[in-house]
Amino acid sequence: MSAERDAVELTKALLRFDTINPTGDETGCARYLGDLLVDAGFRVSYHPYGERRTCVVAGLGGSTGRRPLCITGHIDTVPLGAAHWRRDPFDGESDGGRLFGRGSSDMKSGVAAFVVAAIACANQLAGTAGVELVITGGEESGCEGALHLARTHALGHAAALLVAEPTANYPLVAHKGAFWLEARTHGVTAHGSMPERGDNAVFKAARAALALEHFDFGIPAHPLLGHPTLNVGTLHGGLNINSVPDFARVGIDIRTIPGQDHAALRERLHRHLGDGVELETMLDVTSVHTDAGDPWVAEVFDVMAPILGETPKPRAATYFTDAAALRPAYGDPPTVVLGPGEPKMAHQTDEYCVTERIREAVSAYEKIIRRWCDL
Ligand SMILES: [Zn+2]
Repeated sequence: MSAERDAVELTKALLRFDTINPTGDETGCARYLGDLLVDAGFRVSYHPYGERRTCVVAGLGGSTGRRPLCITGHIDTVPLGAAHWRRDPFDGESDGGRLFGRGSSDMKSGVAAFVVAAIACANQLAGTAGVELVITGGEESGCEGALHLARTHALGHAAALLVAEPTANYPLVAHKGAFWLEARTHGVTAHGSMPERGDNAVFKAARAALALEHFDFGIPAHPLLGHPTLNVGTLHGGLNINSVPDFARVGIDIRTIPGQDHAALRERLHRHLGDGVELETMLDVTSVHTDAGDPWVAEVFDVMAPILGETPKPRAATYFTDAAALRPAYGDPPTVVLGPGEPKMAHQTDEYCVTERIREAVSAYEKIIRRWCDL
């Protein structure tokens, strides 16, 4: 079957584009999807945010008083990693109900599923609330594409947001925010044989890292998301072994929960680490939480219950998504993360997706679109 009608075939086609980030080259993959959507009658626009980097926004319907449903996914992937792959990461190999490849779970299968579902409804969408498909690049390096769309006002006015990240088709209603900081320390360089003449930036960075080991956020746990977390992911300093280093930096990855103000948190960390440590913000995206009592969330749960064989319960994703950047730009509409990929296979060697889940996701997205648009 052709790729615009069969999401497994479309996933295979998307896997053949190498969109590994960094460095990230989404242009070919984005154009391929854009062309399919244009052929199906969508209004398609491209939003470049760097050399060979682009996002796609595609809309259909949305001409009535009701606002469209946004469905979003990213087409960049993480690198292959150091371990040897037994499957070709770019060939869309399938075996025993599994489809292998970098990005099969995270998240080209999700993008393929919603594109096929939207195309299946396309000829009925005129005059309805409609859909807005937001296909981003640069997600894996911190929502780069989505933040660009938000900053440049490239988005419409969607009233609900569906993120097709890997959840094995279980609808999730929350995820933490991400607040990435770099702590920088300065010193004075000197010959390594005379350290007393220098001022060692690595010792300062090491003290800063250790001061963060048991950092207390001082707030109660969120019922779904638990406690915020802090991890020191990197520590770099010095250029050569026989000099006193005059510069060092510590990469701090904080995951926040609803109610936490990032600016206030940064201020607290600054006081905690002292004036000798500069803090630079690398990524600042908010947490996402929608009450499971929201009528649209209830509708999505209702659609998923027969597919899952159980009524979904409110649960949270462990990772963050582009919703952190897109949701505020849409005015904080209800948001669900729901996609066919296997969450445990994201970023793994020999990544795969279960083909049956891709077909289930197409059927689920189609039902969700039809309900939204009263078809
Ligand atoms: Zn992802």
